[in-house]
Amino acid sequence: MNELRLKIAVQRSGRLSDDSVGLLRKCGIRFGNGMGKLRSVAHNFPVEILFLRDDDIPQYVEDHVADIGIVGENVVAEKRCRVETVERLGFGSCRLSIAAPRAFTYSSVADLNGKKIATSYPNILGDFLRSKSVDAEIHTISGSVEIAPSIGLADAVCDLVSSGSTLFSNGLKEVETILRSEALLIKSPDQVDQKSEILEKLLFRIRAGKAAEQNKYVLLNAPNDKLERIIEVLPGMRSPSVLPLAESGWSSVHSVIPEEDFWEVVERLRTEGAEGLLVLSIDQMIR
Ligand code: ATP
Ligand code: ZN
Repeated sequence: MNELRLKIAVQRSGRLSDDSVGLLRKCGIRFGNGMGKLRSVAHNFPVEILFLRDDDIPQYVEDHVADIGIVGENVVAEKRCRVETVERLGFGSCRLSIAAPRAFTYSSVADLNGKKIATSYPNILGDFLRSKSVDAEIHTISGSVEIAPSIGLADAVCDLVSSGSTLFSNGLKEVETILRSEALLIKSPDQVDQKSEILEKLLFRIRAGKAAEQNKYVLLNAPNDKLERIIEVLPGMRSPSVLPLAESGWSSVHSVIPEEDFWEVVERLRTEGAEGLLVLSIDQMIR
């Protein structure tokens, strides 16, 4: 069978794997990802999932082995492949930072002059040091960068950080942030046309899921004389729905509010006389 399918590269095993697979499942795409599988064809959507090392994903996308890929911005920036960002995905957040032993007296990047910095990101680090006119030696290693200072391999490191606990447990302190990163959906700039329709469909679903995560559905009861003030507090997609309750003089108000300021809105609603507030997660949101 020669059905046209969009090939999606995701990390096989690592920090982005679960969220990448979860994102595709949330789009309603059903596929198996049995242990050790390298490739899986979806049962109900024209896509094929390739499970790869994250470092290889930008190159595979540039070479059209995969049509699109889900990979960290840090990897895209380091690999310098010809790929475009289609969508920022909001997971896999981390930063690429320079860290030095706690005893290192650090006041500015100039303190790195003449030092040896271990990293798996020589391109990004090199650009950063050049932009700051710092002359330091870059020592490229592929893993366990954080132990380099304690074994005498380097004076500092440039590595990914999220909570900072790995740095801390290795006696290091973060001194400069070079790049903030999250997972990206990437594609080649010269993508095959017939596949763009599948990509558009997928993007539509991804965006509906993302919008849903960024919003909450609120239901509340209020006496009719307080409705006007309550409605003013609600941002909503359009104006809220107002339905009469069985008890006369009371209404039920339904609306959508952004997740980021939802506690603040809820507090104001209560002050304005809202009762019986229910806040629900939204599964998909199509604007
Ligand atoms: P692979 O075997 O696929 O090469 P890896 O060991 O290079 O895996 P992971 O450690 O699984 O990669 O990280 C994958 C991506 O997750 C990183 O490139 C980055 O975008 C993101 N990430 C988020 N938080 C962190 C963190 N604290 N440390 C490392 N990566 C992080
Ligand atoms: Zn990797």
